[in-house]
Amino acid sequence: MTWFADLDLLKYHSGPFDAENWSAPLRAIGWLEAPHLFRRDGCPDSVLEKLKALVGQSPTAHPHYRFRGGMTCSWCVAAALETPGPVWSQENIFVPGAGVVYVAPSGIVHYVEAHAYRPPEEFIEAVLRCPDLESQEYCKPLCEANGNKEPPLESKETHERKWADTRAKFARIRGSRDGQ
Ligand SMILES: [Zn+2]
Repeated sequence: MTWFADLDLLKYHSGPFDAENWSAPLRAIGWLEAPHLFRRDGCPDSVLEKLKALVGQSPTAHPHYRFRGGMTCSWCVAAALETPGPVWSQENIFVPGAGVVYVAPSGIVHYVEAHAYRPPEEFIEAVLRCPDLESQEYCKPLCEANGNKEPPLESKETHERKWADTRAKFARIRGSRDGQ
């Protein structure tokens, strides 16, 4: 995985993973990678449980923003653990804050549980306030955090509709070509 210091602007990939596509700062949280040190005094259980819930909602809320392949934890590898932690798939959670949007990888749950990672307080507060990712209520604080502009994060429905439109367009082009 790529390392970002906590609260750095994220520039990882196209679309919603590029800070330039947001009106508000898109800040990285929990993009840990050995040997870059991080704060280690853990999180309250309520925060960990909420992080688990959000990460669990991500595959259904944003299945089209899932990266291929599994991740292993470089901190487990660095510690030469016999079983180097779980392999998790590459989902990410977008958490609206006050005039800022945070993006954390799903591995954040492992970092808190296994390595006592402590994210910045402003992120913890935002996580506790964050509505379920699959809910209608999620869009409002996300838009507000993004300066009341539409976030570059498409819902599953919008994404599927766009793909259906694209497929239909290509089918029409093919159809007219075959008809000639
Ligand atoms: Zn680990």
